[in-house]
Parts: sequence; C-alpha cells; structure tokens
Amino acid sequence: MQLAKRVETITPSSTLAITAKAGELKEQGYDVIGLGAGQPDFNTPEFIIDAAMEAAKAGHTKYTPTAGLLALKQAIIGKLKRDQGFDYNPSQIIVGNGAKHVLYLLFQALLNPGDEVIIPAPYWVSYPEQVKLAGGVPVTIATTEEKHFKITAADLDRAATAKTKALILNSPSNPTGMIYSKEELKPIADYCLKHDILIVSDEIYEKLVYNGNVFYSIAQLSDEVKANTVIINGVSKSHSMTGWRIGYVAADATLIKAMTNIASHSTSNPASVSQYAAIAAYNGPQESIETMRQAFEKRLNTVYPRLEALPGVSCVKPQGAFYFFANIRKTSDACGFVSVDDWSTALLDEQKVAVVPGAGFGMPNYIRLSYATSLTNFENALDRIELFIKKHT
Ligand code: PLP
Repeated sequence: MQLAKRVETITPSSTLAITAKAGELKEQGYDVIGLGAGQPDFNTPEFIIDAAMEAAKAGHTKYTPTAGLLALKQAIIGKLKRDQGFDYNPSQIIVGNGAKHVLYLLFQALLNPGDEVIIPAPYWVSYPEQVKLAGGVPVTIATTEEKHFKITAADLDRAATAKTKALILNSPSNPTGMIYSKEELKPIADYCLKHDILIVSDEIYEKLVYNGNVFYSIAQLSDEVKANTVIINGVSKSHSMTGWRIGYVAADATLIKAMTNIASHSTSNPASVSQYAAIAAYNGPQESIETMRQAFEKRLNTVYPRLEALPGVSCVKPQGAFYFFANIRKTSDACGFVSVDDWSTALLDEQKVAVVPGAGFGMPNYIRLSYATSLTNFENALDRIELFIKKHT
C-alpha cells in the first residue's frame, strides 16, 4: 500500500519502543526492571475517581462542548489564578485529550508549510514530530550539560530566521529535569517579543519540583509576554492521571477558536467523565500532589549520588520532573559499544534493565532513567547496571 508522504517523515516514539521491548521480555517470564516510565507510579487520588463515577452515574456520559465543559474551563481558570495569578476567560481555554493532543492541535492551527519552530535539545520526543506533521520545520538548538541544557537569547538569535514562528520551552524539562529561573526567562521572552516569535510553554511538570527549586511560568513576566505565550498543561503528571487524557491550552482566543475547529472535525470533546474527574482534581484538595512530590524528592536524593558515582557516568542533578538524563558516552566506549543505543540494547538483553537511549531526545550520548518506580526497583536496577559495566570493562 502506498502511504501518505507525511508518514515517512515521522519517527516512532523511542520511549514507547523500549517499553514495548521490555514488555515482550516480561511476557516471556523475565524479571525486567523498567526505567522507561513517563508516568507517576501512584494511583489517581480516590476523590477524583469518585467524582468520575458519580458523573457517570448521574448521566454525564454524552458529548460535551468540543473545547470542554464550562465548569472545567472555570476550574482551570481558577488553578491558573491560584498558582500564577493569571486572568484568563473561557474563550482562552481549550481542553483536549492530554497535553500531547492539544500540542498537536496547536501546531495544526499555527503552522504553514515551511514555518520554523525552535526546539532546544534535548527535547520531548513528540515536539519535532508534531511540528513535521503540521508541515512545519523543527529547528533544534543543541545545549550542553555545562549550561544545564538551557538556551539563552544569544542561542535563539543564532537559530532564528524570518520563518521562525514559535519557540517551545519545557520547564521543568523532560528529559533533563532542569528548570528555567525568572532571570533566565526574561531575555528569552524579550527576544521573542521583539522578533514576533510565539512562546509555547509546556508546563506539564510544574508541580514536580524538588529541593527548594521553584517553578516560574514565562507568562508571569508581564501581560505582554503572557499575550505572546501559549501555556500547555494538564492533570497527567500533577494528579497522576495519565490514562484519563485531559490536557489544556491557555492562549489567545483566536488561536483557541482555530484549535477548537480542528478538534471539532477530528476528536470532538475529551471523554466527559474524565472532564468531571479533572474538575475535581483542580477544585478539590491538593494534598495528594505534595505527598507524591515528596516521594519523588526522596527517591531523587537517595539514588542520585549512586547514579552519578557509576564509572564514566555524569549527570546534572535534576530540579524537577522524574527523570535522570545521564551522559554515559565514556562508559559506553569503555564497555566497547559503538553507540549508546547498542549499550542500552545490551543492558536490556543481558541484565533486563530498560532505559531510554538519548537519541530520541536529540542527544545520542545520553540515557534517560525514570524514577517513577519504587526505590527498591531503582536500587536493584543500579546494582544490575554496575554489574553490566563491570562485566564489559
Ligand atoms: N509534554 C511533556 C514534556 C511530556 O513529558 C508529556 C508526557 O510524557 C506530555 C507533554 C504529554 O502529556 P499528556 O498527553 O499525558 O497530558
């Protein structure tokens, strides 16, 4: 069958590929430790599940407005006011099937063929692919470990052209866990305003920040910056609700209307009961977020010293999210592998530990290890990685 050309340009998600391979090995009866998880290993809080069940029983099982229930938009507006002091109105909000889906809608609504979108590397695997699917051109900016994987206005200036339409910022970052400070964001925002570059701020890991680090939204800098920013967020990571598929965008009403039109002919509204669950998540008690945050922080602080002490491994201590992004190039070389990809495949084959190779994130010398797993699991995985390195050096 002759498939559409656009399919040829898309690379399958590397995070999902390793999870699939680890799953196959598990099915064959192997004791696999998966460090590929992109989701919190906690249950959705009980009161949120109850709200969804009550909504279903009350008959809220029909279509809703495409961009989401007004009550959910209001809950989101309340959250944005409470956490960042923002004022938004319902015409500036769209709710979709997860942050991934609203990002997809965004690029479909925004990009003409050839429009460029600047993406700092390492990046979340879906950004470049979604830009390409919309006919856009991803322009990556390579960052370094020394600069904590962050870009500056000078980097932007080198990457920007007359075709640059948008910049994607993801803080806290998947995969590095780095957080941009207010001071670091200011010159970036100024540059974008001056050159008419829309800022796409993916704030999905906002609530998962550790050891006194704080999240700051670039849109908080000024009303002008807020008007030039598209905020992406959702309940997946903050409320451990990845399977419910609820994410949202807060942005200019014209853009939201265009995204809503596209959604109206593709997905329609996100699941109605999930919307009721999300209303409870935003309007209800927020303590469960703190409990989960503390558990992640404890894991981070416990396992980081051991990970960093592995021979030939370097890793900047993450400030947020739930991933380590470790440079293992020296280890991989010392073990005699030609690439970190091969090192990772051999690690899974021999020691049954699944990590995600960095190539999919745009940094092939790195691996991503998720600590959205129990401390015991992570420590056992480190034992196996140590053994693997010893055997090969
Ligand atoms: N953005 C980033 C940086 C992510 O890591 C993820 C999920 O892994 C998403 C967006 C998508 O989240 P969801 O579609 O579950 O809301």
